[in-house]
Amino acid sequence: MERKRKLAKRIEELTIELVNVRSVVGTKDENDISDKIFEMFSAMPYWDKNPHLLTQLPFINDSLGRSSVMVRISGQLKDNSKTIVLIGHTDTVGISDYGDLKKYATEPAELKKALQKLNLSEDIKKDLESDDYIFGRGILDMKCGVAAIIAVLEDLSERLDEWSGNIVFCAVGDEEGNSGGMLSFVPELVRLQESESYDYQAVLDTDYVSPRYDGDDNKYIYIGTVGKLMPSFYVLGKETHVGQPFNGLDPTQIAGAIIMKINKNIAYSDVVEGEVSLPPITLQHRDLKSEYSVQIARAVNLYFNYATHNSTPDQVMQKMLKASFDAFNDVVSVLNERYDVFCKASHIESKPLTWKARVMSYQDLYAAVYEERGEELVEILESYKEEMLKDQTIDERLFSQYIVQAVHNLWSDKDPIVIVYFSPPYYPHNYVSGETEKGQKLIDTLKTVVTKHKGKTPMVGRKFYPYISDLSFASAPSAERIATLKNNMPAFGSRYNLPIEDMQKLSLPVANIGPFGKDAHQFTERIEKDYSFKVVPTILYETILKLLD
Ligand SMILES: [Zn+2]
Repeated sequence: MERKRKLAKRIEELTIELVNVRSVVGTKDENDISDKIFEMFSAMPYWDKNPHLLTQLPFINDSLGRSSVMVRISGQLKDNSKTIVLIGHTDTVGISDYGDLKKYATEPAELKKALQKLNLSEDIKKDLESDDYIFGRGILDMKCGVAAIIAVLEDLSERLDEWSGNIVFCAVGDEEGNSGGMLSFVPELVRLQESESYDYQAVLDTDYVSPRYDGDDNKYIYIGTVGKLMPSFYVLGKETHVGQPFNGLDPTQIAGAIIMKINKNIAYSDVVEGEVSLPPITLQHRDLKSEYSVQIARAVNLYFNYATHNSTPDQVMQKMLKASFDAFNDVVSVLNERYDVFCKASHIESKPLTWKARVMSYQDLYAAVYEERGEELVEILESYKEEMLKDQTIDERLFSQYIVQAVHNLWSDKDPIVIVYFSPPYYPHNYVSGETEKGQKLIDTLKTVVTKHKGKTPMVGRKFYPYISDLSFASAPSAERIATLKNNMPAFGSRYNLPIEDMQKLSLPVANIGPFGKDAHQFTERIEKDYSFKVVPTILYETILKLLD
């Protein structure tokens, strides 16, 4: 009991220390937090004596020169190659949402006082008045989780003869951005697997958990994680003067029909073990006409956020080809009906419109253009990519769209069509089933640990951590399934890279055991102390030791 209390106190202390160091994603601040964490471990006797087990791991090709902190430790009870991987991200989202209170964003005590003066909802007011909650940027997402790992490792380092096996922890940055930290850690894990003969069992994260609906008091332990794809559509219509509407085909109408079909439609959700993934949602819908004129737009680009529990890129591509074909067909039917009504009203002869629904994947477009242009296409794209890579204002999504447009422009076929492709990023889902031995062991372990501690706290085990996270990079679908992604994501291999082969080599089950709180990414972000400081470390501790056993 005494030890538990000591651990809780230590986590609270570390949490505040970490919150005090501002670490907004994509800024130089991120270096300060990794220095801070490096210092924390350096000050502990185990790593002071074993400095080679504490390293800074630079991000690959990072203009800000950021690095993660990698910490290793081995128990001494007996020889045991079993190894647990722990991850926690040290970056936070920006602080502009605090407005006037920005200067207190990383000072929990002052922030609480300042927030008490604002007119906020009853729930927030209640938490502001109680001693159970602490507020601050990143406190929930996820500095408290990082603090829990640090405290647990510190404790384990003081009782090396009571346990065996190895732990590799990486405090990663850029999680809220492009996962630069995790993506440089993955190849390192593969390297260590070979050089140290580590037998990885699972990857555990301590990112936040929150109520899933109003009044939800459950504390969730998640096994596995949701995935994300960004199916994208380049819709080419046929331009016309507004004076002759039926001579043209408006791409915004086709795009609209695609949105009607796909947006928030649960028919495109994955249901696995009774858990439904969030339906797709439109993230961009933009016509590509830059000026005002009485000519209709010629092209539209749109993309969706598409959550997955078990659908792989090849399957999502098939669903999107079918959805956009049906949507296009619906538009052609509606236009024919409207044209007929128009002709009758105008006393002119009505003939069916000539539009045909046509849809193809980027991969097929590329093949069609390659057929016509051969190596010239490759050369044109190479120099175009090189030119675009110099321009940091072109993000990964725009980069992809420009390539689709460039390839399409080189094609002899100019008829209306929808090109389906993928924009970055891609986060594979991780579905932990009993099919693998390691997966089953993780399921059993968490079940035992959760059952043991369920008494006081309403704890619930669920599949699929629902907030996109770095856990996605602990595995990847087979080469065959991934090929569809690579071939249909024009930015892949140039503007956007993933260590797919290393992810496949790891193929590890994942779980998230995280602090509980509310309003991540909002200025009212806060943690609930009791569960976060007392229960989380205990669960984490027991899970690690059971998995190493
Ligand atoms: Zn997070």
